[in-house]
Amino acid sequence: MPGVHLIVGSSGNSMNDVRLIPLAALQHYAFCPRQCALIHNEQVWADNFLTAQGNLLHERVDSGEPETRKGIRFERGVQVAAPNIGITGKLDLVEKDISSGELFPVEYKRGKPKVSDWDEIQLCAQALCLEEMTGQTVAEGALWYNQTRHRQAVSFTPELRQRTLQVIADVAAMLASGVTPKAVYDKHCHACSLFDLCNPKLLQKDNSLQYVNRLFSTEDFDEETTE
Ligand code: SF4
Repeated sequence: MPGVHLIVGSSGNSMNDVRLIPLAALQHYAFCPRQCALIHNEQVWADNFLTAQGNLLHERVDSGEPETRKGIRFERGVQVAAPNIGITGKLDLVEKDISSGELFPVEYKRGKPKVSDWDEIQLCAQALCLEEMTGQTVAEGALWYNQTRHRQAVSFTPELRQRTLQVIADVAAMLASGVTPKAVYDKHCHACSLFDLCNPKLLQKDNSLQYVNRLFSTEDFDEETTE
């Protein structure tokens, strides 16, 4: 299959042997829990046009040199790890106000703003990492959308923080269980880079076939009638 390669799902860190969840896993879980488990537990990956475009955008952003303009320091491709909340990853951009020391994470997105709050959750997780590493509060950040060329400010409210911690706990529980959720074929599957590997249509068909076979299986029928 073209473009298929293995990735390392865990952070590979040795901090108390705790498996830190990559920030990207939150995005994968938002898209499809099965996709998240395939990538981060079964270490399966494949690129499609959309992921390739996203990779290019992040490579461009992350490779920029640090610079200071108008009292703001711009650091790109910043590695973070927060063992207490169990996540790690690389931030596209962190802006630091030189006079106040305030930190401001900025995440670059390929598309446009979404109806759901998943992008905000991913950004909030970045802020939580910065807070754990620096001990200072990170009150705001921004999402920059390549398609609309729009920068959207995000406040890290108590509600958003709570939801983000819950999502991190949900992802951690799913990955720790080692169980890959079953495929649920939906129209968004056609945007999934793992479509060929997952084969959701076939899996659903198999499930239906197994169900029908079970219904008419003599063995099952006998077991049910002897109870
Ligand atoms: S093809 Fe569909 S069910 Fe399978 S991993 Fe992708 S989004 Fe999930």
